[in-house]
Amino acid sequence: MGLRRKVTAIEVKQRGKHRCPSCRSLVRLERIAFGIWRCPKCGFTFAGGAWTPQTIMGKALAPEELKEVEAQKAKWKEAVK
Ligand SMILES: [Zn+2]
Repeated sequence: MGLRRKVTAIEVKQRGKHRCPSCRSLVRLERIAFGIWRCPKCGFTFAGGAWTPQTIMGKALAPEELKEVEAQKAKWKEAVK
């Protein structure tokens, strides 16, 4: 019971708006992969917390890391098919 409540709290947090470390806009960040967030406004992609971007230190991803994210997304698309 306690766990369900915790998960709900996490989901609510995920839906909230967060400030983009790049353009400073208050936006609904997209979680594109585990711990990877993207700003829908400027397209800035960065690594943050696994569940919420709260712990973001504004770390931009290196090109190799972004490639890894793209590969992961492609894999997920395959799995959905
Ligand atoms: Zn942004």
